[in-house]
Amino acid sequence: MRELGLKSELTILKLGGSVITFKDKQLTPNLPAIRRLAHEMAVSRSSPLIVIHGGGSFGHPLAVEHDIAGGLKGREQMMGFSKTHNSMVKLNMLVVEALLDEGIPAVGIAPSSFIVTRRGRITGLYGDVLSNAIRLSFVPVLYGDVVLDYDQGFAVLSGDQIAARLAMEFNARRIIFGVDVDGLYTSDPKINPEARLLKELTLSDLKRIISVAGRSRAVDVTGGMMGKVLEIMDPISKGVEVLIINALSENSVYRALRGEEVVGTRIIKG
Ligand code: ADP
Repeated sequence: MRELGLKSELTILKLGGSVITFKDKQLTPNLPAIRRLAHEMAVSRSSPLIVIHGGGSFGHPLAVEHDIAGGLKGREQMMGFSKTHNSMVKLNMLVVEALLDEGIPAVGIAPSSFIVTRRGRITGLYGDVLSNAIRLSFVPVLYGDVVLDYDQGFAVLSGDQIAARLAMEFNARRIIFGVDVDGLYTSDPKINPEARLLKELTLSDLKRIISVAGRSRAVDVTGGMMGKVLEIMDPISKGVEVLIINALSENSVYRALRGEEVVGTRIIKG
């Protein structure tokens, strides 16, 4: 664990690809949302802060087209890897530019430049660049990326996995996940209108949810939300607080960054 000098006040803000892009329209950023969120970050004055964003329509379709997640099987995939990375760099520039416009000293940092995986899980992480950037009060802006992998050539590394790992590496106080729903529900609220928002959970609640998910309909977590739930178990067990909120809802991110009351799911070690 790298100490930042404070029991770390560090906040990691993960903004979902469904928030900053239009997921069903290829290569289409949600610029009004990006600008509003940059403004909310600026006025919250939250510091130290690491921002991580997802790929949405800039990452997923290209990674799928070239089967990056399955690793390197043929030379023709090499261009796919490079194009997926480059597409994420373009989205990252839009986020960084919006933050610069708000006077935030944001610096885009490519996860593929300091992280290596083994079968898609982070094994090598050179954290000195990040810890120095934070110490100088820069706001690093990372993203879900394609990365080199010791076992399979390359892999897709989700922003969720990066958020969880950095929270542990830097002893963060909290991770805020900004998604396109109000938090973790008893089932996918986009499918089930009866789904109920789970407002406060402990680690043991979460473990119970995972063990029944799929088997019982009491709590049904799927897709990207299941990925998040699995990633956050470790950081929560180390005392990191997790908040899942709706980043498309105005001022939710602002309130969460300020530590104010906000609609969402709060998960603590308990
Ligand atoms: P992002 O791209 O913002 O990181 P994802 O789209 O990968 O997020 O995951 C969030 C999505 O997970 C929600 O939009 C929702 O449709 C889905 N989901 C599935 N099960 C649940 C659940 N139990 N509670 C909340 N959302 C869920």
